Amino acid sequence: MRRMRPRLVSDDLSALPDLLDEVLVGAGTTVWSWDAVEDRLGGINCSVAMLGYAPDEVPWTQAGWDTLIHPDDRAAAEAAFERHRRGEAERYECEYRARGADGQWRWLLERGQVATWQSPGVARRVVGTLTDIGPRKRAEHQAQALRDRLSQLAVHVPGMLYQYVEDALGNGRFVYASEGAQALFGLSPAQLVADPAALTRLIARDELARLAVTLRRSAQGLTPWRETFRVFPPGAAGPRWVLVEATPRRDPDGLGGHELTWHGYVQDVTERRALDLARAEAAAAAAASRAKTEFLSRVSHELRTPLNAVMGFAQLLEHDPREPLSEGQRRRVRLIHDAGEHLLRMIGDLLDLTRIESGHLTMEPQRVPLAMLARDCADMLAPAVDEARLALALPALDSPLTARADPGRLKQVLLNLLSNAIKYNRPGGQVEVTLSEAGGEVVLAVRDTGIGIRPEHLPRLFEPFNRLGQRSGRIPGTGIGLALTRMLVEGMDGRIAVDSVPEQGSCFRVHLPNGAAAGAGDAAAPVQVPNLPT
Ligand code: ADP
Repeated sequence: MRRMRPRLVSDDLSALPDLLDEVLVGAGTTVWSWDAVEDRLGGINCSVAMLGYAPDEVPWTQAGWDTLIHPDDRAAAEAAFERHRRGEAERYECEYRARGADGQWRWLLERGQVATWQSPGVARRVVGTLTDIGPRKRAEHQAQALRDRLSQLAVHVPGMLYQYVEDALGNGRFVYASEGAQALFGLSPAQLVADPAALTRLIARDELARLAVTLRRSAQGLTPWRETFRVFPPGAAGPRWVLVEATPRRDPDGLGGHELTWHGYVQDVTERRALDLARAEAAAAAAASRAKTEFLSRVSHELRTPLNAVMGFAQLLEHDPREPLSEGQRRRVRLIHDAGEHLLRMIGDLLDLTRIESGHLTMEPQRVPLAMLARDCADMLAPAVDEARLALALPALDSPLTARADPGRLKQVLLNLLSNAIKYNRPGGQVEVTLSEAGGEVVLAVRDTGIGIRPEHLPRLFEPFNRLGQRSGRIPGTGIGLALTRMLVEGMDGRIAVDSVPEQGSCFRVHLPNGAAAGAGDAAAPVQVPNLPT
C-alpha cells in the first residue's frame, strides 16, 4: 500500500484565520488590529460578537470602541497604552468593563503591542487580544467577599485564626492569619504570611523540639494538633502561654503531589492557666485543711475521755476521807488537777476551732449586759489576777450597755482577752475593762500594761497556732486563743481591733452590734460562724 503524504490544499490555507478565530473564541479570547493613523479597527467581528453585538452595530474606530468602555476604567486603559507608546513597557495590558449588547458590563482583559511604528513614539499599527475575564473576576470577587466576611468575624474572636500549609517538600507557610496575630505576637498578619519564621523566633527555645515532634505526628496521622507553649512577644513583660488547636487536611497541590493545610486557632491562656493553677492549689489546700480539721477533731475527742478520767481520779484522791492525803501529796494532786483543767480548756478551744472550720458552730445571739459579763469573767480569773499581783478595773455594774451576742461565746472571748492581759502583763501591772458606745455598736475594750506586741508581729496576731515568738518563752499557751476569739467575734457580726506599744501594753477592742438597737431582740435566729481562713 502506498503511503500518501498529507498535503495542505489552498482551501485549507484560506480557512486558517477562521479556524484560529474559532479556537481563540472558544478559549474566550479574540484578536484585533488597529490602524492608529487612520483610526480604523480591523478584525473585531469576534470581539464585538463576544459582547453580543452584530458587526455593524459598533463603529470600527478606537473612539467608537471607547464608548463601550466603562467611564471609570477608560483613563487607566488609556494610561496603560500610553506607557507602552512612550517605550516604558514592551507591551500593554489593562482590565476594564465593557458594555454588552444586553446593557450588562463585562470584564475584559486587553493586551496589545505596537506592531508598526510611523515614527519614534508614533504608532502606525497596533495588534492585540481581548479576553473575557468575567468568570475569573466573579471568582475573585467571591473570594474577596469570603475573605472580608472571615476577617470581619475574626475581629471578634479573641485570638488568631489561621491556615498553615506545608507543601510536598515539607516547606511550611501561613496562607492566612487573622488580625489577632497583632495582639498575640506583635506581628501583623502580612508579616506572618511573608515570614512564618517570625513566629518561630518568638517561641521559647526549649519548647521547639517538642512542638516539631507533635506537629509531625499530627501531619502523619492527620490528627488534630493541640499544644500549649510559651512565647515571648516583643514588649511583653514576660512569657505568655498560648494554646493552639488545629486540624490538618490533605489536599492535592495541583502539581501531582499533596499538601497539608492546618486550620487552626491560637489563644492566649496565660491568665486562664494561672487561674487553673491557683484553683488546683486552693483545692489541694482545702483538702489538706479538711484533713487537718478532721484529725484535730478526732484527736480532741480521744484526748478528752482519758483526761476526764485523770482529773476525776485526782479529785477522788484529794477528797477521799478514807485515805486522806498529806499536805504535800494534796498540793501535788492539785497541780495534776490544775494542769488537767488547763489541758481540757485547750482541747475545748481546739474543738471549737475545728467546729468553726467545718461550719458546725452555731450562735444564739441575745441581748447581753456587758458590765455583768465583765464581772463574771473577773470572778473566774480572780486567783490568776492575785497570783500575778495585778490590779483589775471593771466597768460600773450599773452600766446599761448591752451587746447583741451569744452570751456563752462572748464570755469565752472576754475570758481569752483577760487571760492574755494577765499572762502577758508584768508584776504590779494593771488590767482594765471599759465599755463604750459608738454608732450602732458597743465597744468592749481590754487594756493591759504588759509587754506589748512588736509592730511587725501585729499582722500575724490572729493566726492560729502563732505565738509570735512566745514558743520558747516561759508563758504557757498554744496560740489558738486569739484566732478563736476573732472567729467568734466575727461570727457575732462584730470585729476586733488592737493597739499595742512594746513594753507599755496592749488594748484589744471588740466591736459588737448594740443590744439596744432596733431588731436586737432576745430570741434571734442562730447564726453560723464563718470558716477560719487557712
Ligand atoms: P497564746 O496566748 O496561747 O500563745 P493567743 O492566740 O491568745 O495564744 O495569742 C497569740 C500571741 O499573741 C501570744 O502568744 C502572744 O505572743 C501575743 N499576745 C496575745 N495577747 C497579748 C497581750 N495582751 N500582750 C502581749 N502579747 C499578747
